Order: sequence, then C-alpha cells, then structure tokens
Amino acid sequence: MIDIDKIRADFPILKQLVNGKPLVYFDNGATSQKPQVVIDAITNYYSNINSNVHRGVHTLSQLATDAFEETRKKIKAHFNPAHEHEIIFTRGTTEGINLVATAVTPFIKKTDEIIISGLEHHSNIVPWQLLCERTGAKLKVIPINDKGELEMDVFEELISNQTKIVAVNHISNALGTINPVEEIIEKAHKVGAWVLIDGAQSCPHMRVDLQALDCDFFTCSAHKMLGPTGIGFLYGKEDILNALPPYHGGGEMIKECNFEKTTYAELPHKFEAGTPNIADVIAFGTAIDYINKIGLEHIEAYEHDLLNYATQALLNVPGLKIYGTSAKKASVISFNIADLHPYDVGSIVDKLGVAVRTGHHCTQPIMDRFAIPGTLRASFAFYNTKQEVDVLVNALQKAVMMLS
Ligand SMILES: *Cc1c(COP(=O)(O)O)cnc(C)c1O
Repeated sequence: MIDIDKIRADFPILKQLVNGKPLVYFDNGATSQKPQVVIDAITNYYSNINSNVHRGVHTLSQLATDAFEETRKKIKAHFNPAHEHEIIFTRGTTEGINLVATAVTPFIKKTDEIIISGLEHHSNIVPWQLLCERTGAKLKVIPINDKGELEMDVFEELISNQTKIVAVNHISNALGTINPVEEIIEKAHKVGAWVLIDGAQSCPHMRVDLQALDCDFFTCSAHKMLGPTGIGFLYGKEDILNALPPYHGGGEMIKECNFEKTTYAELPHKFEAGTPNIADVIAFGTAIDYINKIGLEHIEAYEHDLLNYATQALLNVPGLKIYGTSAKKASVISFNIADLHPYDVGSIVDKLGVAVRTGHHCTQPIMDRFAIPGTLRASFAFYNTKQEVDVLVNALQKAVMMLS
C-alpha cells in the first residue's frame, strides 16, 4: 500500500509554495523529485568518502569504489541482466543511445536499414540520423495511429533482412503509450537485427526484467526515477558490447596504453573512460532502494488509479482533448483545450502553483502527426494525489475563463 502522507513527507520540495500556492508538481515526465535520502546520499559522499574510484589503495578510495560498485549490484538486482558488467554508467538515456549509435558504426553498411518509431524522443532520432549520415544507411519510421499507438502491421512490412537496428521507446514521454516492445524484439531478432529500448519512461513506472525482455540494449536516466541528474546506465548484451569498439578513450578504459597500440579494459570499464560521476552513481543506488522499499507493484497500481481519475476529471473540462488514448498507457496525459495555445494555458496554471509541461516535449514528429504546435502534459508520480488533480482541473477552468 502507498502511505501517501508518509511518502510526501520524504520529498522536501513538495512542501514548497510556488507563486504563493502549494506546489502541484505534474512534470514528472521531465524529471522526478528527489526524496531526502537521495539528497543526503550526495552530501554524505562529499562529506565523508570523497575520493577517486578504482585507483588508490588508500582507505577512502576503497570506500568510494565499493559504494560506487554497490550501485551496479543494485541495478543488477533490480533490472536482472545476466551480468553486472553489462551495466555501463552514462550521463543518462541520451548518452546511452549516442554511445550505441556511434559504436555500431563499423557494423553498418550503405544498404542497411535502421528502424525507429513515430513516437520517439529526439534523443532516439538524431543519433540514428547521424549514424545514417556516416554510413549511408536508411532510416525507416514505424508510423502511429490516431490513438498514438504504433502501427504494428506497417512495422511487419518495414522489417527485413536489411534491418540492422530497431530502436524504440518502452513508453512514450509525450503520449504515455506503452509500446509492445516484446513483440518488436521478437520480430527484430527473427531477421537478426539488434534492438535498443529507450527505457527513460518505463523505469520509473514499471518492473523491467532485462533477461525476460531479451533486448540487446536498454537505456535509462536516474533523474526520472528519483535519482540525480547527469547519471544513468546503458545495458548491452555481453557478446555485443565486447564486439563494439570503445566510445570514449581515456583513463580507466585501457588495459595497456602505449604509442604503438592500446588494449582495452574488460567490461564495463571499456566504456567508462575518465573519472565517473561518483556521487550521483551512489545516490542512484539510494533511489533504487527507495523505490524498492515502496514496491514498484504498489507504485504501478497507485499511478494507474490516479491516471484513470485524472483522465475522467480532465475530460470534464469543456473543449479539452486528450492526445494519446491507447488502452495501454502510463501516467501521462497530453492535452489541449479548444484552440487555446498550450503555452498560455500553462502560464496561467503555473501562477496557480501547478507545474505542467507545455510544448513539443522533445517529440516534434508527434506534434506534426497530430498537426498541433504542442500540448500541455500532466505526468504523475506516486507522490501525487487526486486532490492535486482537482487543483489542476480548477486551474484549467480558470485559464479557460481568462483566455476565452
Ligand atoms: C527524458 C527522455 C529521454 C532523454 O533522457 P535524458 O535524461 O535527457 O538523457 C529520452 N527518451 C525518453 C522517452 C525520455 O522521456
């Protein structure tokens, strides 16, 4: 069960007033808030064990290294990859995708094809466009229907022996659609393609079992799942990561370095050049512990209930239209009200203390698909409440009165 008062007390920012009103934070799709234990983990690292990892024999360096590597163990336990060394720390989802799209370059020919979808975040579009520019390969896009779902019959037509990589998100950040990634992975593997799953939006909301999923790559960002910004991980299957060339060169990633030839360190270090973001890796581990203390199953059920409540409540606002109406959705609602500009509505609800996102949500192709400039997006976390949804609905009604 979710003990909402106890949970909210763990998040110091939720006690704030914004523009003189209690903060209603509905921009969790952009970044989640952080519980005090995560904030404390960062301070504790710098106050007590700050030291570089994997280097010195001295005590602090060993404490720092142990705490750093402990997070990799927590990720292994939480996401169930076959091996701990298949987890590479990155700055986040964006860097994970860029790492893969760059490192696969020698494996991609001019006649090859890369498939993405019409639901992708710019960070799962542009790195593949760059790969196609480097190699001459073709980018194909799975279109979406009016509900914001992938058109899987078109995917069947697009996929062929020329397909080398399929890269799709698990959950759409703009519309909330939960994509049929199991089916995509199975079909892609039949033609021998590698599959990258952008898990930025799934990790905070649902259980992800990497071995059961059987994707070849998976990326995520800590900051959307209660952790700090600037840290995340890339999962890759061991044999594939071993076959790929390094992404960054530098310290920590070499076995032997001399001017004639350098040999690379074993996984995961081969892909972790330079001093890592130690404090934030440690705090990421604390965030995973916090989520597990509450239980992802409880989080999922609570958010689902909140999504249903909010969907009904919002549809009571005259002229409100929801974009993204798939039966399988995470706790994200994108909408517009009549012909009011989302930015104008967003500015007014902000004055009333409610934080929603307005704009294209780094998914311009989706906005083009629906021929709109952008949407308002309310994205919920398990520390949000139905009372807060009511505050949003009232704020929207005020905005409508002021703007029309
Ligand atoms: C947020 C997000 C990204 C980018 O994540 P960063 O943390 O900015 O690197 C990519 N894909 C999706 C679906 C996202 O929601």
